[in-house]
Amino acid sequence: MSDFRPGCTRCGRTTLPVHWGFPAGDAFEAEERGEIHLAGCEPPPAAWWCEPCQAYIDTSAARPGPTTVGLADFEQYLLRDMYMLECKDPDGVSLPDAYLDLTARRQTWQRVRDEMFSVLPAFETMAEILGPPVHESVAEAEGLRLHAFSLPLWPGYWFEVAGDDRGHVVHERFVRVPGHPSPRLETVSDLRPWNALLPEVEAAFGPLPRNFIQQFYRGLVTNDGQGRRVELYFCRDLLKAIVIDPERPMEALE
Ligand SMILES: [Zn+2]
Repeated sequence: MSDFRPGCTRCGRTTLPVHWGFPAGDAFEAEERGEIHLAGCEPPPAAWWCEPCQAYIDTSAARPGPTTVGLADFEQYLLRDMYMLECKDPDGVSLPDAYLDLTARRQTWQRVRDEMFSVLPAFETMAEILGPPVHESVAEAEGLRLHAFSLPLWPGYWFEVAGDDRGHVVHERFVRVPGHPSPRLETVSDLRPWNALLPEVEAAFGPLPRNFIQQFYRGLVTNDGQGRRVELYFCRDLLKAIVIDPERPMEALE
């Protein structure tokens, strides 16, 4: 069997071969070792899987631009990732009327996601979709190029895309526009969807236990000061939901 594994069309990192059907032999162990991805019983949409992107990768779909995605489509795509609990938008967030059709949003999300994994190189595609970056820099430590974009739906933040030399997207996150103040965060009640970033929350409440981490989604658990368990959900480092669960006291945490 060949050891060839293609790079992800989005982030450039090495993909995993996808196995499907009833797992045979040591398939479960191989998945735990990070050697394969198990797709389940249905044929997967592609033969390769990118773990950091959490996506099936169809390398034959990769092609140079142009893209058909526009800025409003991209905002809808991010919005759907901000969904929380029974597909509700973040509490207290009011959206433009044009963005309220959830069926259209789901379709747009799929279309944008398909594009994100097929149109290369990614930096140029992002600029095609979002306009030229408002700021460019280099993250010396990681050797990544950072392009920051301004999105009308999230004023006060930049959408920062980190990419390698070839323009593959390695990371995306929201960052505060320089000069825009962070909120005062003294208690959990100061937290609201979209008002704080992961580093700001950790600066206020200390490093928090993480109940899951993927490239774009993070869940943290803290204490509201009254012994109640508080789950904080972030999408691309932006706080999207706060869930206070009085049924699960902090002691119940593993
Ligand atoms: Zn990837």
